Amino acid sequence: MQVLVTGGAGYVGSHCAKALAAAGHVPVVYDNLATGNRWAVRYGPFEHGDITDLTRLTAVMDKHRIEAVMHFAALSDVGASTSDPLAYYAVNVVGTHRLLVAMRARGITRIVFSSTCAIYGMAGRSSALGEDTPALPISPYGQSKNTAERMIADSAVWGLGGVALRYFNAAGADEDGEIGEAHEPETHLIPLVLHAAAGLRPDIKIFGRDYPTRDGTCVRDYIHVADLAAAHVQALQRVEPGQFAAYNLGTGSGSSVLEVIDAVRRICGRPVVAIEAARRPGDPPELVADPARAHAALGFTASLTLDDMIESAWRFLVNHGNMDPRRA
Ligand code: UDP
Repeated sequence: MQVLVTGGAGYVGSHCAKALAAAGHVPVVYDNLATGNRWAVRYGPFEHGDITDLTRLTAVMDKHRIEAVMHFAALSDVGASTSDPLAYYAVNVVGTHRLLVAMRARGITRIVFSSTCAIYGMAGRSSALGEDTPALPISPYGQSKNTAERMIADSAVWGLGGVALRYFNAAGADEDGEIGEAHEPETHLIPLVLHAAAGLRPDIKIFGRDYPTRDGTCVRDYIHVADLAAAHVQALQRVEPGQFAAYNLGTGSGSSVLEVIDAVRRICGRPVVAIEAARRPGDPPELVADPARAHAALGFTASLTLDDMIESAWRFLVNHGNMDPRRA
């Protein structure tokens, strides 16, 4: 299949493009390179364009005879969304709207959507999160993704088939070392701890030690980006025109900030200076997926561990540490 991969130059999108190509599809990457990397587009054609550009989207769909869409193009920094919410609604909501308008105009009825556990807001406090947990996002980012999901779900009425994949914390890098996580600026825990281990930053700050968790630091369900990519390909095969479904993608078990830092020290064999700091606004204490529905419906099980994530991300950093993430 010719699959339009919006945001395919980004972290998760580029790994999914690779998995699509490996499964025999043609991933046509559509990206404005605002946060994506041109070097990460290696597995199919590249089309430069903005997700809000309806004319360009339609032209690219025609040119490549697109049959299905994987939609990653979005702004994705929770903290930034609280200071510039309109930017998040413009890209994530208006952009998804334009994409759906283009798909409807061209009769494309299959989409796999990159969603997030951020739509659940504070609900992760007590137990693992299932898909029927009410969506009560606490950030404009989470709200924008939730609205985009609703647009896709409501579009079943004109025949759209949609699968929303709600990721927990994506981490790790391609096992072949070709692509990996390279954000500028970097805000995610695992790459930042690795930067500290590599001496690229002096320390790692622990955002809050007084959470109601086993060691007082926040617990997250980290999932390997290669597992995420496999789930996307499985979801694409199961999209049914006129139907919508949402699945949580996680491992079902969480790691605390302290556990992540200790795992990096152990795996990299380097010291990491950790400094206690204030809580980061908007952080729920615990977010862990109940992955049962994705397993039942997609046959998906995360097979890679936190150690696999840290090892692959460390290899990518060591091999590409001097890579300018904005290099064309
Ligand atoms: N975190 C931290 N120090 C950092 C970056 C993140 O303690 O420098 C914590 C953060 O508060 C959260 C967890 O690590 O509890 C994972 O954060 P990340 O930004 O990687 O992902 P998020 O859960 O926000 O999607």
